[in-house]
This record gives sequence, structure tokens and C-alpha cells, in this order.
Amino acid sequence: MFEQIERVPGDAILGLIEAFNKDSNPQKVDLGVGVYRDAHGNTPVMRAVKEAESLLLKNETTKSYIGSHGDPRYGQAILSMVLGADSPVLAAKRASATQSPGGTGALRLAADFIKTHLPGKGIWLSDPTWPNHLGIFHAAGVEMHKYPYVDAENRLDFDGMLATLKQIPQGDVVLLHACCHNPSGFDLSKEQWQQVLEVVRERGLLPLVDFAYQGFGDGLEEDAYGVRLMAENLDEVLITSSCSKNFGLYRERTGCLIAVAKNAEQMENVRSQFAIVARENYSNPPAHGSAIVVEILDSAELAANWREELTEMRDRINGLRRDFVDALKPYGLDQQFAHIAEQRGMFSYTGLTPEQVDRLRDEYAIYMVRSGRANVAGLASENLPYVAKAIAAVVK
Ligand code: PMP
Repeated sequence: MFEQIERVPGDAILGLIEAFNKDSNPQKVDLGVGVYRDAHGNTPVMRAVKEAESLLLKNETTKSYIGSHGDPRYGQAILSMVLGADSPVLAAKRASATQSPGGTGALRLAADFIKTHLPGKGIWLSDPTWPNHLGIFHAAGVEMHKYPYVDAENRLDFDGMLATLKQIPQGDVVLLHACCHNPSGFDLSKEQWQQVLEVVRERGLLPLVDFAYQGFGDGLEEDAYGVRLMAENLDEVLITSSCSKNFGLYRERTGCLIAVAKNAEQMENVRSQFAIVARENYSNPPAHGSAIVVEILDSAELAANWREELTEMRDRINGLRRDFVDALKPYGLDQQFAHIAEQRGMFSYTGLTPEQVDRLRDEYAIYMVRSGRANVAGLASENLPYVAKAIAAVVK
């Protein structure tokens, strides 16, 4: 039977990584990857994570199942981190947490829940969005639609976004990136979040807020502005959270699906359905990542150390954004690329065309996705002048 199976091309980013690894140019620069890199090009295990792991190794007493909702201490810790320790939503017992295999697992739980329990409701995704959003909702059989997000001039198209949101059928789901929009790097201002809230409320939409980069934009609290605004002012919200980036736990698959409901009773009902969806997909989530997070957040010392390192990571990214624009100044390109300093998170829609991206790869061994999305964390003070010079050459 397998003779009928067609081979599909691999992930474009994996192809890029392969080409980068094969490239013998000593000046090569990888701006394609989707993970944080330090100044030496490494994706380090965070200090507090190492410490927590050695404690776990010593103290762990069982490998038994942790249950479909995961570790309740992890759930509580994530609820506080996402909604705020003194959130009125938590005080009212309107929010639940279901641990998941990464943010991706949380999105899939949400997608399956929507498909089964909100029949006929579609999901609206920003154009562009993280490509896997399309894959996840397609796989779950949820009908997908787009709302504009970036215009042809490579700017946030907020008017276009709002105009489309105003047309969405009542009860449909709208996926919002909480911060550090992937792939563009363009985030909403507080005023814009307020306007989105009003439209969502007027039209009776269900926001699904994807919170994969808490702490990578402006800070753990600052980045939660939109999420908390929605949760505190609406009866119903879904939130997917991930510890892949802010704890550097990528391969440990550590995420969470949060449901905010009108009251504790409805929250418990929704939560009970999440357990069914989890069981049907993978039964129980993996335990190691969540145990690390609990170990860190339960210790004042480890938590402070983790926050400090997260701040270093965020400052490095935001510093590189400013330095990058400065490096383009001698070429008179700082205005054209000024948006890079304003965007947030690891990713940036540079505004480079696919042809320019190809030239950067072929002539300068600088690798990024053809959409012009660059991972800013792939830059370093040593390669900035080289990258700036190459960009100046290809945009002329
Ligand atoms: N949402 C967005 C927007 C992302 O960029 C990512 C990771 N690249 C995720 C969710 C999920 O990440 P993970 O499953 O690794 O936690």
C-alpha cells in the first residue's frame, strides 16, 4: 500500500538549516532558525534550569503518570504568570490550566475542543501568522479564515485588521498573538488592544490568545497586557502558553492551555472536556519540563536567577535591534529599516524581498526565510557590520 504514498518536501526552515550547515563560508550568518541564540550562537540551558534539574534528579521519587491536566502546581504557577498573581480572574476562580506538550500541544487541544464543542465555528488567523497555526487547525478540521495584519509596505495593518474583525460572524474564534508576533515582530499598542477588545465584545467573538513569548518583548508583566485585558473584561477566553522560549525548554515540551469562563461552574465544565481531548491525543503530558518550572518558581532564589537571565536574553534581542538599525546608518538605510528597532521578539519582517533574501544567501552566506523574516537573535556584534553591508548591497 505504501507505493501510493508521495513524498512531500521537508520544512523550508529545516532545508535552510541544512544548507547553512553545508556552507563553508566562514562569515556565514544564520538568521533563519526559530530559537534564541546567545552571542556565541548557542541556545543555552538556562542557569536556573540546570540547577532545578540537578535538584530534581536527586529528589524525584516516581515516574508515574501525572494526569491529563498535568501537575497542578505547574498549572497554578502558569496561571499566576500569565494572568498576574493578584488577577481578579483567579480570585473569581474563572480560570483553569491544563498542561500540554508545548504551546503546540495547547493549540491542538484548543483546536480539537473548538471542533467538537463549538461546531461550525471558524478560526480567524492573522495574515501572516506562524505557519504551524495553519497546520494545527487544518489537522483538527476547523475552518480557517484570515484577517490582515501586515500591509504591502511592511507595516502593521491595524485598520485592515479591525475592519475585518468587525465583519466576523458572531461566535467565531479569533487567534491573537499576545506579544512578539511570529513572523512579523509587529505588536499591538495598548490602545489597539483596547480597540480589539471592544470589537471582540461587540461581535461576541471568542479570543484564542497565543502566548508563546512571554518575557521576550518588554517584560513578563508588560507582555501580558493584552492577555490580561481580554481575561479581565470578557466572559470567555482561551489562552495557550509556552515555556519553550522563556525557560528555554524547547525540547521538554512544556506548555499550557488556559480557559477563562464566565464563572467557576462553567470553567470546570470546559476543563473537564480538555482532559478528554488530552487523553485522546496523548493521555498525559510529559512531566520533566513542568517539574523544572515548578522547582524554579517555587524557589525565590531560582526564580530571581531565572528572571535575571530572561532579562539578559530580552535585553540582548532589543539591543541588537537598535544596533542593527545603527549599523545601517552609514548606508543611509536607517530610516528604511527603523521598524526593526520597534518590533518585538526574536522575529522581524525585514521588508526584504524573496529575491534579496536569495542574493543574501548566494552572495553573502546570510540565511533567512524567503518571506524576509529574520531571527534577530542570530545577529551578534561581530557580524552586524557584515550583515549591514550585505543588505546595503542587495537593496541598492
Ligand atoms: N505559537 C507561536 C506563535 C510560536 O512561534 C511557537 C513556537 N515557534 C509556538 C506557538 C509553539 O511553541 P512550542 O510548541 O515549542 O511551545
